[in-house]
Amino acid sequence: MRSSSPSRQALTIFPIRNRALRGTLATTEPGAVRGRGGSIGQARYRLRRAALFVLVVGLALAVACSSVPQPDESAAATESSVFEAKRVLLVVAHQDDDVFIVSRIKRHLEAGAEVWVVWTASSEPFGEEYAERRVEEARQAAGLLGIPRSNLYFLRYPDGATHRALLEIITELRAVIAGVGPDIVYVPAYEMGHIDHDIAHFAAVRTTRDLDLDCRLVEFPIYSAFQTGWPFPFRLRRYPKSLETQVRALAEDEYGFVVQYWGVYASQKSRFGLYMSFISSKRSVLGAEFTRDVPAYDYEAPPFDARAAYEKFLNDVTFGDFVAAVGRLKSGDDS
Ligand SMILES: [Zn+2]
Repeated sequence: MRSSSPSRQALTIFPIRNRALRGTLATTEPGAVRGRGGSIGQARYRLRRAALFVLVVGLALAVACSSVPQPDESAAATESSVFEAKRVLLVVAHQDDDVFIVSRIKRHLEAGAEVWVVWTASSEPFGEEYAERRVEEARQAAGLLGIPRSNLYFLRYPDGATHRALLEIITELRAVIAGVGPDIVYVPAYEMGHIDHDIAHFAAVRTTRDLDLDCRLVEFPIYSAFQTGWPFPFRLRRYPKSLETQVRALAEDEYGFVVQYWGVYASQKSRFGLYMSFISSKRSVLGAEFTRDVPAYDYEAPPFDARAAYEKFLNDVTFGDFVAAVGRLKSGDDS
């Protein structure tokens, strides 16, 4: 089941970066430089190169300033009971969001649990071929964990626009969650990093609570709007300490597995090139496991005082769209 979004144009994580790149490439062509009138064209070329350099350095600094893993003493107390779970469900938006919790999923599998994974979004807005490639990468990644293909669900709502299909996502999730009967459900954190992450979070939390299952809900941060300002659209794994996130530094072999798992998503490395290579080389980003029990959020208010990150990199998508999607669901319930 798929909702189309004909008005939705190609989405980019870093439109500014892409514009800079496009400008750089365009003005490198001899005709383009001459056509702009010599020195003015060259000055613009240098300006764009400088802007690109500043952006790349800025992104690198954003990663470097991300949360450094600090093992939490309270983590040890909760771990043993967590791994008594026999049926584990992971609900994420995009094919690669799973990278940020794969260390925990692997431990559940090693403890004898069965695991199911749902991806709510798909990259059709970027092209069918690219979307299929990402789905296949997700299958391969799950294969590394030994999760059978029959336990993988791809709902395939358009990347960047899943808020327009919240009711449909909840309807499909309800069937999956009721069928799986999970002991624990992992969801992306509610953190205004990407609207699809927040929608996957909300849909899974709402559905699980509505089904009144004896089930623990755990969220994990991916990237967040928390404490961001120009020029950073978001920060990786930056989170408010008040939410009592548990942080566990991964052992060397676990970290090695996460990097290997991340390597399966080769399309993301090629798409975002230098930035993704830098991320995957940072132990502070992939070398720790961040988890917290889902608190009682008010989903019609921001989780913290910040402008939603996705307002800076998605076209025409605002936090108001998220609130409106949640509101529509509420009014549907009342009718
Ligand atoms: Zn994502």
